[in-house]
Amino acid sequence: MKLHEYQAKDLFARYGIPVPRGEVASTAAEARSVAEKLGGKVVVKAQVHAGGRGKAGGVKLVQSPADAEKAAAGMLGRNLVTHQTSAKGVPVRKVLVSETTAIATELYLAVVVDGNAAAPLVMASRAGGMNIEEVAEKHPEQIIRVAGDPVYGLWPYRARDMARELGIPPKLVRDTTALISNLYRAFVELDCTLAEVNPLVITADEKVMAVDAKITIEDDALFRHPDLAKLADPEQEDELEHRADRAGVKYVKLENGTVGCMVNGAGLAMATMDITKKAGTNPANFLDVGGSANEERIAEAFSIIVSDTDVKAVLVNIFGGILRCDIAARGVVMGAERSRSRLPIVALMRGTNAKEGREILQASSLNVTFLNDLSEAAPAVAGVLSTRGGAR
Ligand code: GDP
Ligand code: MN
Repeated sequence: MKLHEYQAKDLFARYGIPVPRGEVASTAAEARSVAEKLGGKVVVKAQVHAGGRGKAGGVKLVQSPADAEKAAAGMLGRNLVTHQTSAKGVPVRKVLVSETTAIATELYLAVVVDGNAAAPLVMASRAGGMNIEEVAEKHPEQIIRVAGDPVYGLWPYRARDMARELGIPPKLVRDTTALISNLYRAFVELDCTLAEVNPLVITADEKVMAVDAKITIEDDALFRHPDLAKLADPEQEDELEHRADRAGVKYVKLENGTVGCMVNGAGLAMATMDITKKAGTNPANFLDVGGSANEERIAEAFSIIVSDTDVKAVLVNIFGGILRCDIAARGVVMGAERSRSRLPIVALMRGTNAKEGREILQASSLNVTFLNDLSEAAPAVAGVLSTRGGAR
């Protein structure tokens, strides 16, 4: 679960990480009065679950409360499109109004999960304020990496070495070391998958400060943080992914795909995606209905798949076990009826009650191509996609 910058900065402050003074505002008038409180010269920042706001007009430095009001009015109630959002963008409901910082140097600092090492990894770079993915790709040597230890944490001397390697002025090494350690502690205690400061700033008057803040909390750990769970903002998330979340199915939308895949089990889902690729077509999603899905969940999963306008055909691959094929079939029929989908379906059902499942689909008015074996899937998917004519 992602947090907004203002929420992440509140948490940073709690962990002793210096952030500029500021307040969040939901209206332009509120933004003006916060600016007045802060002395007039402020930065107005759109609060969205995406980076790249600076280049997209979502970060405005202004000289007066009246200009803060104008800047806020220009952002609030609109969608902000950045290189990290879809073409539609994400809605701006709040702006953060902060004191401006006179920036001398912009650095990058983050803690992430290193899956290979099974430990938190601290990353830092002198190339701050920029697109870090680009730095990682073109100049990987510019990124300093220090692994934490899942048991002992981050050794203080390693945080200190990192600060030195970043070229921090000697008198700021102590503060920077503390900041790195505090960010690490926040990352662990809040069950983050990401805690990022970009840019971490050295100010003209020689202070270190987090000018931006990004936190993502591990969804599976949210039950331990009821106060953080309340900070969720589903409006910022992809609508179909959010619907899938509520239905309890694992769904990930993929770019440039036309085949919707409905599968039970993550391994089978990946194999099914490989099969669609092999057919020379592309999966439009990853969807795992899970082992113990009922008709209702299958119906919702099916209608999520066909609500994606990129989808031109659906591949249903169910291996009946605890989830019986007849239940899956009834769910598919229910979902197709509910969403009034006439998209061609390619179905492979095996295992428990496969025969009943097939009969249910056959008895429906759906356009279904049946398979007897996984090896038939690739040509069948390619076939329905090439013969489909105005199916939608
Ligand atoms: P992002 O583009 O979504 O990552 O938003 P940031 O909060 O990182 O802001 C983008 C850029 O705006 C930063 O890299 C800074 O260069 C600039 N910026 C943000 N806040 C301030 C500020 O208070 N003073 C100055 N001078 N620049 C700022
Ligand atoms: Mn940033």
